[in-house]
Amino acid sequence: MATLTFFGAVEGVTGSCYLIRTDSVQVLLECGLYQGRAEEVRQNAQPFPFDPEELDAVILSHAHLDHSGRLPKLVSDGYRGKVYTTRATLELLEIMLKDAAFLNERDIEWQNRRRARSGKPLLEPLYTLEDVENAFAQCEGVTYDRRITVAGGIELCFREAGHILGSALVELYVSDKGVTRKLVFSGDLGNDCAALLRDPEIINEADLVMLESTYGDHDHRSHKQTLDELHDILSGAADEGTNVLIPSFAVGRTQELLFRLGEFYQAGELKQQLVMLDSPMAIAATEVYHRYLHVFNQEDAQQMAESRATTLHSFLPILRYSRTAEESIAINRIKGGAIIIAGSGMCDGGRIRHHFKHNLWRKGTHVIIVGYQAYGTPGRALIDGAKTLHLFGEEVVVKANVHTLGGFSAHAGQSQLREWLNNFSAAAPRVFLVHGEEEKKQALRSVLAKDGWQAQIPGMGETVSL
Ligand code: ZN
Repeated sequence: MATLTFFGAVEGVTGSCYLIRTDSVQVLLECGLYQGRAEEVRQNAQPFPFDPEELDAVILSHAHLDHSGRLPKLVSDGYRGKVYTTRATLELLEIMLKDAAFLNERDIEWQNRRRARSGKPLLEPLYTLEDVENAFAQCEGVTYDRRITVAGGIELCFREAGHILGSALVELYVSDKGVTRKLVFSGDLGNDCAALLRDPEIINEADLVMLESTYGDHDHRSHKQTLDELHDILSGAADEGTNVLIPSFAVGRTQELLFRLGEFYQAGELKQQLVMLDSPMAIAATEVYHRYLHVFNQEDAQQMAESRATTLHSFLPILRYSRTAEESIAINRIKGGAIIIAGSGMCDGGRIRHHFKHNLWRKGTHVIIVGYQAYGTPGRALIDGAKTLHLFGEEVVVKANVHTLGGFSAHAGQSQLREWLNNFSAAAPRVFLVHGEEEKKQALRSVLAKDGWQAQIPGMGETVSL
């Protein structure tokens, strides 16, 4: 009998990991990293709850680390088969996993210096750059809408998820003892207002649906309102001659922002003369986006074409890249009139912290928060009105204006999740809610019940039959 076991993103939104077993094969869907609180992060180093050597195939829905970030560990723990993902995901994955390996190795090295001094045993990094290279040798890029066999009796088809470039909904056809069951995994379901990306594909049939529920409890603020607000903040800052700092995630959010700033620019409504993208990883990801312009949604692609733009760079000609540390340091000399986009998204690392040090204490500086900020991060502290921020060993006073824009989400809001699910036919599939905090899942379950769905919330390690 074919089964599905929930091994991750069960009690939260990170560590996505699901195992499909038939009598003859085992396929892993997602191999995500646990992120956030220390007790969650510690789970990354634990052995997998299955034998990686026994797996026949691995499938990844998209490049975000909470869906892909334990892949090098899986390979270093013995997995030798193929890893299937979309082609764009493959390119983004390389950037993200190498960065993750680099940061992890550096972090462990730093911890080990302390541990050595206090006589404690040394730690091993979760994986190394070499493990990442090995994992890549096993990856295979698949085009959307093509049904392929990934293991005996298991066929896969990726559909557009509209979440980030390359993101996919996963359709799996699982055959066991002459019976075929169709499983649909929403992956991270996109927000249909997102720039550049196509809308999530509508699917009508399945025997079992795994639905994400990150924003299962509410809808996002209207997109129009969010853009108006962004416009007003930028306009005000330009009039004051002050800098605007935007901490941003390298993949997805940054490219969306560049597109929106490009729209303002093309409409003659951007008063600033300079947009600095100060993040090597975001620059690399933007270059990948440029190679996939043909998969952008028609409206946005047309808008770029009408402006004779072939890249986000030509759509927003005042955009400058800052790749090296020297170029980044030079930005400190800009005292006003610039928009500075830098990582990390939650301000807990990366170059944004340097820009905070040089700008947060200045009255008139504007900080725009455009992404999710987890509890305990400096980004969260800023939203919550922190008076000072601890940066590079000093307390920096916060005199900047901090704005939070709620409408830039790469995830579907509650109504969008509900609408997407309601496309499934009358022969209603069983629905399992994953990838959400408990209260979000409960809220989504209640609202889905109004449409006649009896969605289930699986527990960690729970197995269901297909
Ligand atoms: Zn994601």
